[in-house]
Amino acid sequence: MEGANNIPANFIENIITDELKEGKLTTGVHTRFPPEPNGYLHIGHAKSICLNFATAKGFDGLCNLRFDDTNPSKEDTEYVDSIQEDVRWLGFDWADRLFYASDYFERIYEAAEELIQTGRAFVCDLTPAEMRAYRGTLTEPGRESPDRNRSVAENLALFRRMRAGEFPDGSRVLRAKIDMSSANLNMRDPVLYRILRASHHRTADRWCIYPMYDFAHPLSDAFEGITHSICTLEFEDHRPLYDWVIEQVTLPCRPQQIEFARLNLTNTLMSKRYLRQLVEDGVVDGWDDPRMPTLSGLRRRGYTPEAIRDFCQRIGVAKSNSIVDIQMLEHCVREDLNRRAARVMAVLRPLKLVIDNYPADQTEWLEAENHPEFPELGMRSMPFTKEIYIEQEDFAENPPKKFFRLAPGQEVRLKSAYIIRCVDYTKDELTGEILAVHCTYDPETRSGSANSARKVKGTLHWVSAAQAVPLQVRLYDYLMLAESPVLEQEPEDTPTETTRLNPESVQRLTDCLAEPALAEAQPGRHYQFLRNGYFCVDPSSRPGQLVMNRTVSLRDSWAKMAKS
Ligand code: ATP
Ligand code: MG
Repeated sequence: MEGANNIPANFIENIITDELKEGKLTTGVHTRFPPEPNGYLHIGHAKSICLNFATAKGFDGLCNLRFDDTNPSKEDTEYVDSIQEDVRWLGFDWADRLFYASDYFERIYEAAEELIQTGRAFVCDLTPAEMRAYRGTLTEPGRESPDRNRSVAENLALFRRMRAGEFPDGSRVLRAKIDMSSANLNMRDPVLYRILRASHHRTADRWCIYPMYDFAHPLSDAFEGITHSICTLEFEDHRPLYDWVIEQVTLPCRPQQIEFARLNLTNTLMSKRYLRQLVEDGVVDGWDDPRMPTLSGLRRRGYTPEAIRDFCQRIGVAKSNSIVDIQMLEHCVREDLNRRAARVMAVLRPLKLVIDNYPADQTEWLEAENHPEFPELGMRSMPFTKEIYIEQEDFAENPPKKFFRLAPGQEVRLKSAYIIRCVDYTKDELTGEILAVHCTYDPETRSGSANSARKVKGTLHWVSAAQAVPLQVRLYDYLMLAESPVLEQEPEDTPTETTRLNPESVQRLTDCLAEPALAEAQPGRHYQFLRNGYFCVDPSSRPGQLVMNRTVSLRDSWAKMAKS
């Protein structure tokens, strides 16, 4: 099978194709995306979403959205809502198949009773510390709990009393009876249920016992008729337990777990725990801060769903962990924005430029194309006046070699306008700040006119002083300094460690100026500012108070690296 864009089939698609050939699949392919609602989705989740939804779609199957909400203390409806919004925004549709693991609490409980009845689960009174000691190590087998041989009747009675709230939190657990000498620690009588008095965002205080992930997940998959339960590699060692649960409980179907390598990105940490810490500590301005690797952050930054889906397809699906260069993600959004973003001119750090020989009362409306590759996107008019602004960095008093911008005596072309020559400049002698640059223009060189063929080396962007629209701009850099903060995102990571944070991850420029076409810019719209990058209008923007985020600069180092 070949996916879209002729990308070769990944190993999961190959597994399914083989199963279909061998007649092993009796139902259609059915996958699920199972987020825990304890944070906002990040770019790593996008990989899983694309994989689950696209795999199902490729085989005319279905993909469910299921909230894995079995851990009440960290979960919240804010996350439930944001996750749905983000999956939809990415372009995927679960139709009427939105599920919650918490909706299965009663059935999961029944499955636990069934395991007790068949002698495969028992109530254990060991304290957490004792449990750990009994568990053994990778090199030593564990020891059986003294409670392991309780009778079915006693186990059932105790478990029912656990449910009824007769015991304090953490005083007892329900455990599977598997094998304390198994080489796989997950099989050493794992905990299935714990006592926890915590209000759940959906079931409130109805339950004081909650199933563990390793028990709830295979059951939820089976209840929904999932055929392929795709998850990340950390769960590989849990697969024997997954299979054990599926085998030991009477169930309508037998899903299989398949693991793939999670996405890791350079200069990025994406464990939700860590991201939450950044939000709670006020290091960032919320989950949708444009520096965050969350989908809501990327959206606000100006990333498009198309670019993210393209990225997820290009990185492929592998069986071993690796780290992807974040510049590849940037490359994908550049490609997409190159197609969709209208070109405009905006000056980020304005320097006044006066055209001495241009009439003070004159305004010319010059035509400029909205997109160099797509003439169908039309033209716009830009006012040209005696006073304009250029970038501070486009003028140098003492230019270095090959400075093809403005310097005393030097000529440049103003984009879509005229060739100008610098004749003078004024300067604050105390601070050394350049106050204004004086030029003359050559009326024969208007862009598009017969004489405009005269060539100069540099072309600058500019805006008319009289007609410019003020705007605020935010330029971003990576949040993390280290290229590979951590490859494995272990829960033990100390999230508060801020030494890894880039102190200059955002630069806020408040005195920028744009051409008048931007006066009407709506939140979410994308533009290319000539020479300055791709920008997206921030949701906080109001008429007269334009705020724009730089999605990405124009320089594509990834494309260069890929070529060389
Ligand atoms: P995190 O460690 O970031 O908190 P998680 O795995 O705990 O993530 P879940 O809400 O449980 O978050 O994840 C939902 C699904 O997304 C799971 O199937 C998980 O395997 C997958 N997923 C999470 N992070 C990544 C990632 N970096 N790359 C690919 N898939 C991921
Ligand atoms: Mg998780």
